[in-house]
Order: sequence, then C-alpha cells, then structure tokens
Amino acid sequence: MFDKILIANRGEIALRVIRACREMGIASVAVHSTADADAMHVRMADESVCIGPPPGSQSYLSMPAIISACEITGAQAIHPGYGFLSENAAFVQIVEDHEITFIGPTAEHIRIMGDKITAKETMKKLGVPCVPGSDGGVPDMEVAMKVADDIGYPVIIKATAGGGGRGMKLARTSAELESAFRTARAEAKSAFGNDEVYIEKYLGQPRHIEIQVFGDGKGRAVHLGERDCSLQRRHQKVFEEAPGPAIDAETRARIGKICADAVASINYIGAGTIEFLYENGEFYFIEMNTRLQVEHPVTEAIFGVDLVREQIRVAAGLPLEFRQEDLQVNGHAIEVRLNAEKLPNFAPSPGRITQYHAPGGLGVRMDSALYDGYSIPPYYDSLIGKLIVHGRDRPEALARLDRALGELIIDGIDTTVPLFHALLDEADILAGEYDIHWLEGWLEKAL
Ligand code: ADP
Repeated sequence: MFDKILIANRGEIALRVIRACREMGIASVAVHSTADADAMHVRMADESVCIGPPPGSQSYLSMPAIISACEITGAQAIHPGYGFLSENAAFVQIVEDHEITFIGPTAEHIRIMGDKITAKETMKKLGVPCVPGSDGGVPDMEVAMKVADDIGYPVIIKATAGGGGRGMKLARTSAELESAFRTARAEAKSAFGNDEVYIEKYLGQPRHIEIQVFGDGKGRAVHLGERDCSLQRRHQKVFEEAPGPAIDAETRARIGKICADAVASINYIGAGTIEFLYENGEFYFIEMNTRLQVEHPVTEAIFGVDLVREQIRVAAGLPLEFRQEDLQVNGHAIEVRLNAEKLPNFAPSPGRITQYHAPGGLGVRMDSALYDGYSIPPYYDSLIGKLIVHGRDRPEALARLDRALGELIIDGIDTTVPLFHALLDEADILAGEYDIHWLEGWLEKAL
C-alpha cells in the first residue's frame, strides 16, 4: 500500500480523498494555487505544495508543477479527483513515466472513452446497447442525409471530441439538417479543434441513467447499480438519486451485468461510469466517464462502500473488497449540488462566507470545503458543496432532504439552495416522474 498520496484537485473532492487516505493510514499531500492558500483542503492535508497562480491552466492543470510536487514530497501516487486532469490520457502517461501510480484507469482506456465514436464502437462490440445512428463519423451532407433518412427524424448531430454538452445540434426535419450539420461542425472545430461529427436518433423524453462500474484491472468487475441524474440544467446535473425511481431490481441486474461484463473484458481498472439515456424500457449508451463522478456519494450511501478507498486499493494492486453478490441496495439516497450562483440566472456568486452551518443528524452527509470566513475565489467551478441524504425509502430520503436543507446556513453569498426548496414542493419530483427536459421546462415557468 502507498505511504503517501498527492491529490491533484481542490475543494470538496480533495477533502473527500484526504478523508479516505486518513482512514487508511496514508499521508496526504494537497496542491494549491496562490488563490487557495487558505483553502480547507490545504488545512486538512498532512502536507501542501503551492503549484502556481490562480488560473487553473497555470496550477491545477500544470503537469510539470504537479509532477514536481510529487517528487518534492515523495508521494507515490496521484488521485486526480474529477475534472482538471482526471481524464487526460497524456497526463496519465507522464505520471507513469515518472514511476508514480495514477489512481484511475490506464491511459489507453481513457483515450478510447474520450473519443466518442471509438467509445461507442467499443461499447457496441462489447454488447452494450447504443443509440441508433451513424457507424462512425459523418464526412459530408450526402452521408448525413442518408443516415438521417435511415434512422428517422428527429436526429442529433454530436462532436466526436465533445464534452459539456457543446457541439450538439438538433435537426427535427430534413429541412433543418443542412444548417444543423454545418453549425455542429463549426462549433466542434472551434471548441475542440476537431470538426468530426456523428449522428444519432434524438430521444424525446429519456431519463439519464448511469451505471457505476468497478474493475480490478485483472478481468474482474462489479457494478454498483444506477443513479438517475435526469434533473439537469444546460446538460449539467443538479439533483441525483439512487436507486433510480424508474428502475426495478430485475432491470438493474440486467443492465448492470452487461456493463460489468463489458469493462471486465477490457481489464478495466478502478471506478467508471457508463451513461445511458433510458426511454420506454430501453437503454442507449451515450458515454463512459473514466473517473470518480461528482454524484458518487449516493451510490456509497445505498451500498455502504467507500469508492475512493476502493480506487486506492486496486491502484495498489489489491483485489476488490466485494463480490457482486455482496452488493445489495439498502434504502434510497439523494444528492443536491450546492453552487455559488444567484437565481434566477445562475450567475456566479463568489465572495466571503460570513456564516456557515452544516446540517447533520441521521442519514445526512455534507461534502463541502466551506468554513466560516472562507472567501470563495472567482477562478473555479461554482460547486461549493454537496448535500447527500439517505433514508430507508424514497419518501424518507425526501423528508430528510427537506429537513437538512432547513438546517443549512450559508450566509454572505447567493447559492442554489432555494432551487431545492422549490423543487421539493413539486408533485413530479415527489413522485419521481421527470425526464432530462423536465428541469429546463420548469425553470422557464417557475423562476
Ligand atoms: P457531453 O459529453 O457533452 O456531456 P453527452 O453525450 O453525455 O455529451 O450528452 C449530454 C446530454 O445531451 C445528455 O445527458 C442528454 O441530455 C443530451 N443528449 C445526448 N445525446 C442525446 C440523444 N441521442 N437524444 C436526446 N438527447 C441527447
């Protein structure tokens, strides 16, 4: 096992990893920009190294600075958290060239899943159901026409190198196809430097269902059920729950096994998430994330496992601590993402926290790096915390969420907390009846 791990991240996820390290008796090294000298992850780690000025590109994304920090402190492994360098295959290669262990999958697996066409082809071969669409890239309008006619309208044109919901264009009819195709390519070119696009059938009312998988790198893998992350604004998740209100035990076992078998057969190592759209009882693969997800705590709650501990163990060459049959769903968990944003426009709201009080009690987990007097810097993502509740069933989890939100105090800045108070008054949310478009529709009317 490692003696010392460096965490190449900040905020709540850095704290999350430090906590796992401490429970495992492993020393932790925080890295930070000059803007984060007073940040909680720096205070909580055993050691810290300043790696550059405030912009992420010069600090948390600086590969030479992070490798140097490892060498100075003697850290044997790097946990990347999510975002920043967590899905950067070139970084993984460099880390390994320096004989440091990357806590995550191999560079090759990150590369395969980072290219959406290759990812889809790979998943299709492994027996994972995909959205009907083009076989690979679509080079010109002639092919685009033919594909769209074959699969039927509406269709969505997506960038191979896409991410964050950019470079995606909808064409409802053949009349809209040409301009959608051109715009998607132009956007893909400017956003990702690669204008390759592909075409998929557009699903009108799907849910976003993702399957948590975990591999040992030696051909064994398990699944930890699903999370329903359909409540999204601009393709960003805001509220996640497990198990999914629309998924029963038989469906979970069936899709879970397909996913676990797929990643086992490529000797996948560590945590991964296979994302699907789910409509009329059918799953359609959209992408795989080769890292820990923001919403992983809801899975931890219902299965009673520590996913970060498990990531560290398999990276150190140890076997998985559980078999598939050990993993039983227990109760229901919900996570809400607390952002430093001002409603109704979700404008960033950085600033000084004048008062902070975290909720507690049975079944409540608050993952946040806030503290009284902390100043949220304006340079990074607006996520300032995640409130996770666990109950014996969904109604209990919802009641607990309401209670916990009532106890939470974050003064001095604006947050998205009022959004969740409002959502808990909505019949559709209480009934678990929503698809990926529900929140955008509701926001137009409600705020
Ligand atoms: P990104 O990597 O940019 O987030 P994804 O492929 O994961 O792109 O898709 C992001 C979101 O876009 C999905 O969660 C869904 O809301 C929407 N989307 C993607 N593909 C389709 C599709 N075929 N039909 C309808 N909506 C889609």
